[in-house]
Amino acid sequence: MNNDLISRKALKAEVKAWSHDALDLRTISQIIDSAPAEDAEPVKRGAWVYVDDGIALRCKCSVCGESRNVHTKRCCTCGAKMEESDI
Ligand SMILES: [Zn+2]
Repeated sequence: MNNDLISRKALKAEVKAWSHDALDLRTISQIIDSAPAEDAEPVKRGAWVYVDDGIALRCKCSVCGESRNVHTKRCCTCGAKMEESDI
């Protein structure tokens, strides 16, 4: 079995549909196995680290290390979602 992501809402609906007073581990396992999986990918998160290279202040991705002149909401190289910065 793959390491699927399961919708919390869909799983609750599955549990309600079974409507048993006491669910044993085997039944709970069956409910989880029958829950629909979500199509999702893990999100890489990073931050721009500001580095002065002696010529200009540059942004360096904390995930892949790629340097840029401007910071963006995502790293163009690795796709990491960048946390907000005070700068
Ligand atoms: Zn990156």
